[in-house]
Amino acid sequence: MSGVAGGGVTPLLTAALRDQLSRSARTHDAVGEPDRGVLAALRSSGVLGTAVPRRYGGAGRDMAEVNRMVEEIAAVNPSVAIIAFQHCAVTARIMEHGTDSQRRYWLPRLADGSVLAASAWSESGAGAAKQNLATRGRLLDGGQWLLDGAKTFTTGAGVADVYLVLAQTTPPPPSPPPPVPVVPPAPVSTPAPDPGAAAAGAADPDTGARAIPAASATDAGAPAPAPGPAVPVGVSLLAAAASASGSASLSGPGSDADSGAGAGAVAGARTRTGDGSGGGRIRYGADGQTFFLVEATRPGLRAELGLDLTGMRASATGLLSLNGVPVPDTHRLGPTGQAARIIAGVRGSGATLAAVAAGIAQAAFTLALDHARRQRLLDRPQVTHRLADLATRLASVQAIVAHTGARTSADPHLTTLHSKLHASTAAEEICLDVARMLGSAGYRDDAPISRLIADARGIALMGPTNDLCRDLVAASWT
Ligand SMILES: Cc1cc2nc3c(=O)[nH]c(=O)nc-3n(C[C@H](O)[C@H](O)[C@H](O)COP(=O)(O)OP(=O)(O)OC[C@H]3O[C@@H](n4cnc5c(N)ncnc54)[C@H](O)[C@@H]3O)c2cc1C
Repeated sequence: MSGVAGGGVTPLLTAALRDQLSRSARTHDAVGEPDRGVLAALRSSGVLGTAVPRRYGGAGRDMAEVNRMVEEIAAVNPSVAIIAFQHCAVTARIMEHGTDSQRRYWLPRLADGSVLAASAWSESGAGAAKQNLATRGRLLDGGQWLLDGAKTFTTGAGVADVYLVLAQTTPPPPSPPPPVPVVPPAPVSTPAPDPGAAAAGAADPDTGARAIPAASATDAGAPAPAPGPAVPVGVSLLAAAASASGSASLSGPGSDADSGAGAGAVAGARTRTGDGSGGGRIRYGADGQTFFLVEATRPGLRAELGLDLTGMRASATGLLSLNGVPVPDTHRLGPTGQAARIIAGVRGSGATLAAVAAGIAQAAFTLALDHARRQRLLDRPQVTHRLADLATRLASVQAIVAHTGARTSADPHLTTLHSKLHASTAAEEICLDVARMLGSAGYRDDAPISRLIADARGIALMGPTNDLCRDLVAASWT
C-alpha cells in the first residue's frame, strides 16, 4: 500500500473499491448503519478469499497478505475492515478445524464472498475470557443440537450469512473454592471460652483466629445453580442480552470471567503463577464449550443492530438471539466441548487486528500531512518534526504488522499479541496527536479524526483485550 513505510507495494484493493469504501466511511459511520452496497462490492471483489487455498477457489496466499488486505481496507474504512477481519478469522478456523466436507462446502463460498462469516462469542455476562457463557447447546436424539442464548457485540450482525457461535455444551468443571480469608487475631478480651462461639464466627479462644462461619464454608462447595431461563422469544435483543448477563451462573459455580478472546482470539490456555494471586489460570473459553457454524436463516436466530457504538459505527456490531435454533451435528466445528483448544491454537488474529490499527494510523497520518500542506505549515520545523515523529511511529506499526503476519514467526502466539498491543496503542496515540495537530478542524464530532479516535479505541477492546494481551505475554515468563 502507499503507506509511509509500505510505499511501492502493489495494492490489493482496486482504486474503485477503495474510493467506494472511503465514501461509505463518511456516510454510513455517521448514521451508524452498515453499507450493504459497499459490502456487496467487497464480497464480489475476490479479496475475501485471499488466504483460502487455490483448490477451494481462493488466492492461496498467506496471513501476511490477509493483513495487508485488512490494513488497506482499514486505511479508508475501519468498520468494514473489522467485518473483513471476522470473515477471515472464521475462514481460518474452518481451514484449520473443519472436516473435509465442511471445507468443501464452506471455503469456496467464503472465498468468492457469496457467504459472509461472523464470530458470535461475546455475551454480556461472559467476561472478556468467554468463560461464563449463558448460551447453551443441547444434543437431541438424532444428532441435532438446539442452541439457546444471546450474543452481544457480534460484528456483522444482520449482514453475515453464517455465524461461528460459541456455546456451552456441557457444564465446565467447578473452579477451586476461593481462598480462605485470613482474619487478623482479635483482641484477647473474651473472659471465658464459649463452646458455641466458633460456629458463630467468634475468635478461637486458644489461637485468637476466627472460625469461618458455617454458611461461608458451605457456599464454597455449593451445588451448581439450576440453569437459568432461555431467552424468551420476541424479547428485544438488548433486553435478552441483559438477561443473559444476569443468568451467567448457568455454567456452574465459580466459572469466573477472566481473560479475553472475542474476535478470533489468540494465545491459549496458559497457567499464571507467581503473581501473588494464588496462581489463577488465564485462559480463553472454558471446558465444555463447542463451536457451531450457524446460518443466518436458521429458525430461532435473530440479529439486531441495537448497539449505538462509539466507533466502528458501520460495522454492524450488534446482537444475536438464539431461541431453540436447530443445528445439525455436521455444523459443529471441531470436537464437542473442545472449543477452548481451538481458541488456544489460533494463529494470526492478533496481527490482523493490529493491521486494522495500522490502517487507522495511516489514515490519521494522512489527515495531518494534508492539513499541514493545506495550511502551508510544511516550512515550520515544529510541524515537520511532529510529522516526522508520527511517520516514525506509523512505520513501526506497519513493520510489526508485516513481521507478525509472516507465517515463519518463531512464536506465533506471543508475536501476534505484541503486535496487537503495540499497533493498537500506537494507533490511539497517533490519532490523538493528529487531532492536536489539526487544531480546531480536529475538534468537531464530525471531523474524520474524531471517528478514527473512536475506531482506534475499539481495537484495544476487541479480543483479546489489551489488558489480557499484557497478562498473556507476562504469563509466558512464569
Ligand atoms: C468494535 C468491537 C467489535 C467486536 N466484535 C466482536 C465480534 O465480532 N464477536 C465477538 O464475539 N465479540 C466482539 N467484540 C467483543 C469483544 O470481544 C469484547 O468486548 C471483549 O472480549 C471484552 O469483553 P467484555 O466487554 O465482556 O470485557 P469485561 O470482561 O467486562 O472486561 C472489562 C475490562 O476489564 C479487563 N479485564 C477483564 N478481565 C480481565 C483479566 N482477567 N485481567 C485483566 N484485565 C481484565 C478487560 O481487558 C476490559 O478492559 C467486539 C468488541 C468491540 C469493541
